[in-house]
Amino acid sequence: MVLTIVQSLCFVLFVGGCSYIAFRGFRNVYLNIMLGRAADYTDHPGERWKTMLMVALGQKKMFKRPIAAMLHLVIYVSFVITQVELIEIFIDGIFGTHRFLFHAWENIPFLRGLYVFAINLIEVLSVLTFIVTIAFLYRRDLLKLPRFNKPEMKGWPDMDAHIILFLEMFLITNIFIMNSFDMAAAHGEYGFWISGMIAHSWEGMNESLLEIFEKIGWWGHLAGVLGFLMYLAHSKHLHILLAFPNTYFSRLTPKGYINNMPEVTREVKLMLDPNAQVEPAASDAPAKFGAKDIFDLTWKNLLDAYTCTECGRCTAQCPANMTGKLLSPRKIMMDTRDRMEEVREKMDANKGVWVDDGKNLIENGYISVEELRACTTCNACVEECPVNISPLDIIMQLRRSLIMEDSNSPNEWNGMFANLENNGAPWQFSPQDRLNWEKA
Ligand code: SF4
Ligand code: SF4
Repeated sequence: MVLTIVQSLCFVLFVGGCSYIAFRGFRNVYLNIMLGRAADYTDHPGERWKTMLMVALGQKKMFKRPIAAMLHLVIYVSFVITQVELIEIFIDGIFGTHRFLFHAWENIPFLRGLYVFAINLIEVLSVLTFIVTIAFLYRRDLLKLPRFNKPEMKGWPDMDAHIILFLEMFLITNIFIMNSFDMAAAHGEYGFWISGMIAHSWEGMNESLLEIFEKIGWWGHLAGVLGFLMYLAHSKHLHILLAFPNTYFSRLTPKGYINNMPEVTREVKLMLDPNAQVEPAASDAPAKFGAKDIFDLTWKNLLDAYTCTECGRCTAQCPANMTGKLLSPRKIMMDTRDRMEEVREKMDANKGVWVDDGKNLIENGYISVEELRACTTCNACVEECPVNISPLDIIMQLRRSLIMEDSNSPNEWNGMFANLENNGAPWQFSPQDRLNWEKA
């Protein structure tokens, strides 16, 4: 009895401590996203729900590449279904029971059968996930898929991907340690197929040793799950949660639509035609044009950055990247996220208050002018992204700041801007001469 109470206390303290650390990580992510400018993405709720169900839950865009999609689907379904076993681990941990769900339904054969079926399904999916994880490691490390080996993937991003893959294998191994030793100790009573086969290897082992190994698997699986939870807020794997809100808050405007600034549109219209009918100038004209730092981007841009899976599908289709330019849309998202992390660290060190550190997203080791200039605004990255992220939206805002705030544009563009200003067109002709071609 005393041992059970001590075990339950250890369990509650362990889970409570890990959950608190995980909560702090998720809280920081939320606070970072809220550093962005306000933006309204609440229109057409029906369409938003549909987009979320199709893209996040149904993984619609993943199926452009069916094999990769199937592999991801195995991991995804396995992740969801394994939570059944986790529910039981939590019940047993808190109340000091053992296989609570199995014993609780002793007199309800249907529910007990359902439970045994669920655990068997988990075991089958776990084996498949183990195989898929090895396939992913093979693809990444031996096949060296180009999109996983771009410069921005060196160092921490590569390690992050490996940590999660090894963690998945650790979780699965512990499921089988736990179930197989349990099967051996209970002489096959639970009826788990795969663990039952493994359990034959433990025949002849004494009861207490079987129980100790079962407990190692039980605690190991729990530690893996809680470790995953604590790690999630610091990893690209946060997308398993954020893909849902991010696809709900998708941009519903047609691709290619560019958010014009009304103040600038008004000036241009008047420049082209002084008699043009324009809205009166708004009193709340923007304090600055475009974005220089994360504070100037919208919360949606920042949510995009945290949702990025670093899959590189955008970069693989980016014409600028394909032709050897420095630009990689994936890196734009990774840099935005890194800058948010840097800002949060500095705010934490300063009791939550932001003090300008003299840095911003452009240069300072983040996004270079060369990268920003390389974008053709083709939208291929937006089209490819499996979780509806728009690297282009960030690029456009940063580039707008470069040009309109810093007059930082190549000479060739400056000539075009001057022509637009003086001639109302990109060419070097006076507006009066526009129709001269007719006389030729
Ligand atoms: S919009 Fe820009 S970043 Fe995106 S794919 Fe096209 S060139 Fe690359
Ligand atoms: S922006 Fe989208 S496509 Fe590009 S790496 Fe991130 S998740 Fe993948």
